[in-house]
Amino acid sequence: YLHSKNFEREAVEWFASLYQLESCWGYVTSGGTEGNLYGIFLGRETCPDGVLYFSEDTHYSIAKAAYMMKIPYVIVPCSDNGEIDYQFLEDSLNENADKPAIMNLNMGTTMKGAIDNIDRVSALLKAHTAGFYLHCDAALSGMLLPFIPDAPSIDFQQYPINSLAVSGNKFIGSPIPNGVVLARPDIVDKVGIQVDYIGCKDSTILGVRSGLAALCLWYAIQTRKNQFPAEAKQCMDNAKYLQQSLEESGIPAQLNDYSNTVVFPKPVQAVCRRWQLATNAGMAHIVVMQHLTPNKIDRIVSDMINTQQQQDSSWLT
Ligand SMILES: *Cc1c(COP(=O)(O)O)cnc(C)c1O
Repeated sequence: YLHSKNFEREAVEWFASLYQLESCWGYVTSGGTEGNLYGIFLGRETCPDGVLYFSEDTHYSIAKAAYMMKIPYVIVPCSDNGEIDYQFLEDSLNENADKPAIMNLNMGTTMKGAIDNIDRVSALLKAHTAGFYLHCDAALSGMLLPFIPDAPSIDFQQYPINSLAVSGNKFIGSPIPNGVVLARPDIVDKVGIQVDYIGCKDSTILGVRSGLAALCLWYAIQTRKNQFPAEAKQCMDNAKYLQQSLEESGIPAQLNDYSNTVVFPKPVQAVCRRWQLATNAGMAHIVVMQHLTPNKIDRIVSDMINTQQQQDSSWLT
């Protein structure tokens, strides 16, 4: 047979061991989004009358899951750094004391790279007597945290994580969008529909899937797994360098612990266009990946300052 299932299995198993998930079920998805849809789907199946909780800085794929599956939800505010407001979460859980909780926990938010504290959230969930399901969105930082010394650990043995989504087109930089979703097998056993035509239970979100995507992911792991720690360190170091360069130029810049995402006030439109900066609510960010060298960082920062100065002086004259 010509297929890439063995490569897919090896890729999935590599991720499972990265997060200490011993007995695992998972598959190569079309990206972080599908992994999140799947995780929330498992949550809804496990807790049919559950309420979904996610923070306001959560990636829109989680709100999309709530929308598609008609799951009641609570949007929890964030503190300034993008981390979930634990007190608000606790109060909301208490308000819905009779309803199971389907929790989305962020390991690196999209805009600010914030990490929700898994110890605190786990403790709140364990105290929730109506039961819970914990999904972890680790789209980007799932490939950073395991390689950074002393970073919060994404650990299925230590924490009651039920499922996790990670993206293959972010840190790994796969040329074809892909990702991995992992779940505990006992949950997956309960979902899906037996389909005669394919001779097995259909439990993935999509039907046809890309064998090439699985192969790309496997290949990246095989050729780069020993250098992932160095790549992660380089991203973190360069992110620090960018933050410091901005600060020294008088531009306030935020960088969360264990994050490679630098957040600063939205620059003028010309700069946003030139460097394709993503913006949100008056802020812009740069996610410092492997391709962003100190040299390029210097160019971005000086462009920001020069363009700003030109604008300021044209305003004056
Ligand atoms: C990018 C991202 C996603 C979605 O991943 P895709 O691979 O783009 O589908 C989900 N969650 C977070 C936190 C992200 O940053």
